[in-house]
Amino acid sequence: MSSIATEPVRKVCVIGAGVMGAGIAAQVANAGVPVLLLDIVRDPADRNAVAAGALKRLQKAEPAAFMSKRAAKLVEVGNIEDDLARVAECDWVIEAIIERLDLKHALYEKLEAVRRPGTAVTSNTSTIPLGHLVAGRSEGFARDFFITHFFNPPRYMRLLEVVAGPASDAALVARISDFADRALGKTIVACKDTPGFLANRVGTFWLQSAVNAAFDLGLTVEEADAIAGKPMGVPKTGIFGLVDLVGIDLMPHLKASLTSTLPADDPYHAIAIDHPLITRMIGEGLTGRKGKGGFYRINREAGKRREAIDLASGEYRPQAKPASLPSAAQKDLKALLALPGKAGAYAWAILGATLTYAASLLPQAADDVVAIDAAMKLGYNWKYGPFELIDRIGGADFVARLEADGKAVPEVLRIAAGRPFYRIEAGKRQYLGLDGAYHDLVRPDGVLLLEDIKLGAKPIIRNASAALWDIGDGVAALEFTSKMNAIDGEILKLIGQAVPLVASKFKALVVYNEGSAFSAGANLGLALFAINIAAWGEIEKMVSGGQMALKALKYAPFPVVAAPAGLALGGGCEIVLHADAVQAHAESYIGLVECGVGLVPGWGGCGEMLARWQAAKGLPKGPVPAVSKVFETISTATVSKSAAEAMDLGFLRPTDGITMNRDRLLADAKARALALAEGYQPPAPPTYRLPGAGGKAALELAVAGFRARGMATPHDAVVAGHLADVLTGGEADLVDTVAEGDLLALERKAFLALVRHPGTQNRIEHMLKTGKPLRN
Ligand code: NAD
Repeated sequence: MSSIATEPVRKVCVIGAGVMGAGIAAQVANAGVPVLLLDIVRDPADRNAVAAGALKRLQKAEPAAFMSKRAAKLVEVGNIEDDLARVAECDWVIEAIIERLDLKHALYEKLEAVRRPGTAVTSNTSTIPLGHLVAGRSEGFARDFFITHFFNPPRYMRLLEVVAGPASDAALVARISDFADRALGKTIVACKDTPGFLANRVGTFWLQSAVNAAFDLGLTVEEADAIAGKPMGVPKTGIFGLVDLVGIDLMPHLKASLTSTLPADDPYHAIAIDHPLITRMIGEGLTGRKGKGGFYRINREAGKRREAIDLASGEYRPQAKPASLPSAAQKDLKALLALPGKAGAYAWAILGATLTYAASLLPQAADDVVAIDAAMKLGYNWKYGPFELIDRIGGADFVARLEADGKAVPEVLRIAAGRPFYRIEAGKRQYLGLDGAYHDLVRPDGVLLLEDIKLGAKPIIRNASAALWDIGDGVAALEFTSKMNAIDGEILKLIGQAVPLVASKFKALVVYNEGSAFSAGANLGLALFAINIAAWGEIEKMVSGGQMALKALKYAPFPVVAAPAGLALGGGCEIVLHADAVQAHAESYIGLVECGVGLVPGWGGCGEMLARWQAAKGLPKGPVPAVSKVFETISTATVSKSAAEAMDLGFLRPTDGITMNRDRLLADAKARALALAEGYQPPAPPTYRLPGAGGKAALELAVAGFRARGMATPHDAVVAGHLADVLTGGEADLVDTVAEGDLLALERKAFLALVRHPGTQNRIEHMLKTGKPLRN
């Protein structure tokens, strides 16, 4: 890469502070990069009001747009009349104004006069071809211009479609793409300049054909969503649930823009029909979740009854659970398609049409199957991309069925000639190219995935809930494999076996997995089982065994780096707390949630949190402030909404690292582990100065206050009392120092007392039954 490709992006300007522009600005700020957010002047007396209003809404957005309060401070608002010249301060200008070519042209003309040559200008357009956008602009502008198409919400959707034009400077495209990948955490999918690019092109076709088929076959929305959701690896909202979520009124917009830009022979034209019911719903404000209801609604006048609209009569009726599909059809697409009656017909109506359409886009819209699969997985949350779905159906069967229906077979399926689009060869994943040959799937530099390592290796050791892998360069990775990666005896056992193994054969250990949750916490089901048979000895063993396993990690003669992503709760959080360093994915939701089920952290979490806060800068002197902080965080079962917030809450140290791109987490964690391995010394056990009985009384007084104001329940007070006992050091006197082992003993005592309490037992049972905390 030339030097320009590695030059950092120091400041970004986003123009257009609507849904997308504001969200993009927040994500730039989340990356720690200052951003100037501009919009039009609507009120001459308050010239920045539009952008300022957007910033206010961003700060309240749910799910949160900002990862921390610090990030929000990096957004500066302005307006395009007074501040446009300030784009000269920026390395990247992102245009996200309304989808109108005349307005975009007028803005680019003004930008041309004030921007610095070499500053990238990109459009977030969903539908306007790049050629139209740069028409009339100078050569220099066209060189620095391309399309960066984000998905909503920009913080959470990982896809970024990048469309470069024939005149675009490849080095500048590479530099901005690299920034979007590493700093903004996006996966870049290169698209060609065709209408709707990839994800929306396939996604709109998919939604429309699925809606049409539900009407044609006379299915209810519940039946349709049960077939078109989970069994196809699509979010369980299915079709109608998804349309409700994104807004029913978006459908005519997408349709209008695609029908006006797609070539006349595109199959989309034939399916782009208006359903009178949907037109009526939009007219009545029934636009989905943001409106007065959608295909589904909660009827507040009927006691919050869940209702669904009847597609034939257009009337709401109580929601009905559709007959469940045979279990084979829920997992196996072949079985789903073979179902008799409407269910099999519906599955084929969607898959046959949509997958054929996706296949027909090659090579006009993308270079290979990988791009289209990535676009659908990351832009529409499909578990499998269209070509992966064809592989699951079987390419030959798929083609045979198309032929039987008298449908045209896309060229790429002819090239495949029944061969799969993906295969594993010599431990490498390969995809079928349009040249008819298989090619290695090459990951970007700095992307390391356990999923790939597993293709060519066997674990060093494994059991039912965990495995240990060699990830190269002298680093081992400990992977959890249990359901939701819940910590159980098997995981603790494997930790025990791994420590001597890693000590003798490796330089460092990374704790990492590629599940949707790093760990949802200790396995509560097992705990409840033990409670029900009064196996107190077993529970005690589980608590002390966990404490020992985690301290073995902490004091191991090699560095341990935890690399959480997603949920790291309870016991999962305690594993993170015991690592020498953490490299966390930005989307890490970390918390000690034990109090929610009537317990206290029992695997050393209390002591590790105290040690972090005692070392924190800026707290008033004395033992009380650190204890209060930890008490507040644990007693309220606080979970961070990001890794940045986890740092503010003390779950991460200021020196820990945050990786924005999920695919880069393992490589970053490995690098951190190797950096620590040089001359590594295990930490010295901490000692604590704790406030003792006096401190405990103060904490209990605070809890009594919460009780009086109705903010704490009776059992909250019981649990808080035990937590206070641990955190203040039990019978400790202010002049004593408390050793780590003493604190562990206090944790065990509190845990074992609480686990016998009916209030706690009810909480555990309720959590397992409903997934929600019981407020007893
Ligand atoms: P929006 O209507 O929410 O916001 C548009 C903003 O642009 C408004 O705040 C408006 O005041 C401002 N604006 C209008 N003219 C302007 C001008 N001349 N200068 C500065 N600001 C101006 O729209 P949106 O949904 O955020 O879409 C913005 C762009 O992103 C469009 O090109 C759209 O196609 C694209 N896009 C939208 C989505 C989505 O899901 N909404 C997804 C991807 C891309």
